[in-house]
Amino acid sequence: MQGLHPYIPGEQPKDRVYIKLNANENPYPPSALVSAEIEKLLQQHPEKMALYPDPDAAGLHAAIADMLNATGGVLARTVVSGSGRNAVCSPSDKDRLPFKVTPDMIYTGNGSDEVLSFVFYAFFDGDRPLVLPQFTYSFYPVYAGFYEIPLDPVPLNKDWTLDTEKMLADAHTYDSAIILANPNAPTGLALSRGQIRAMIQRAPKDRAFVVDEAYVDFGGESCIPLLSEFSNLVIVRTFSKSLCSAGMRLGYIVASPELVQAVTTVKNSLNHFPVDAIAQTAGIAACRDAAYYAGCAKKVAAEREKFTGFLTGHGWYVLPSTTNFIFTKKDGLKGDEAYRAIKSSGILVRHFSTPGIEDFLRITIGTPEQMTALCCAMEKL
Ligand code: PMP
Repeated sequence: MQGLHPYIPGEQPKDRVYIKLNANENPYPPSALVSAEIEKLLQQHPEKMALYPDPDAAGLHAAIADMLNATGGVLARTVVSGSGRNAVCSPSDKDRLPFKVTPDMIYTGNGSDEVLSFVFYAFFDGDRPLVLPQFTYSFYPVYAGFYEIPLDPVPLNKDWTLDTEKMLADAHTYDSAIILANPNAPTGLALSRGQIRAMIQRAPKDRAFVVDEAYVDFGGESCIPLLSEFSNLVIVRTFSKSLCSAGMRLGYIVASPELVQAVTTVKNSLNHFPVDAIAQTAGIAACRDAAYYAGCAKKVAAEREKFTGFLTGHGWYVLPSTTNFIFTKKDGLKGDEAYRAIKSSGILVRHFSTPGIEDFLRITIGTPEQMTALCCAMEKL
């Protein structure tokens, strides 16, 4: 216990109603189909709540595979024809998959945080350092501490991109696995699929290469097409961001059936019912309405571009983002001062006191109305 350093989530103060742009949640609600299916479950089949859910979440895994095949795994570019129940999704040319994702390539858990926990346990070692970027999702070091996995945090380049050469050199020095978020958080910067392919080609072949794609649906390039080339690739994804369901706690892995089986073995050794009946029902419904979520991702991406223009026009330094958040700072303005000033206007953004990024703010993209209020608050800074 003494050595544990738990994750600190974005604050949720109760003193007043805030516009919440500090946890990279989606400002839009889930599809109407999700509410309808949950209502149907509770009203027409209440007995299902008395029974344990399907431990294999078979319907959900099939629905996720269908959604990925229909969209190519990037909603902001998914091509939608027709509307409502008649909407049909197809991948943009850039996102076409060279093979069909099958349900046995999917593993689901209680949010991608839980999925990541099992990935750390299943694939990373206690006898060699795990290679990761120095500034990345701050839950990775927490899990490493919990499972006693040593870390090798590789400093970012001066322009905040990943130092892929040093990461690869270190992975060979230690013969170890690599984890990265693509796009990265909190920077919002992404590597292209080609850059990740080049990395995996040169990384140790018998160690896992984990890519966390929590934010990829807002405009990045998914590595799912690479699964046909690399059997050590594990892709982690979530319903919390582009699928508007952070409250539902649903995350998943896309990987080879063998690696999915390894994570399933870990899960079944701890809690074999992690995805509850309501989340399975809601998740299936969400996957069937990818057209709705593609619309939300496109709105968020458009608002992100508008906000980037506002910030650069007002003297802020902005990293080019393909996510639903912006990482930004302004010369002469301390990060915590900017954070407090914005909070006093009733808006929460995220400030990290971590040395090296302490002058940045990470700001989630909200609705046009929320962003107008934010711009109003930031104009004075
Ligand atoms: N990965 C990254 C990079 C994240 O930023 C987050 C959200 N904070 C997660 C994973 C976890 O998301 P969830 O547990 O809600 O699926």
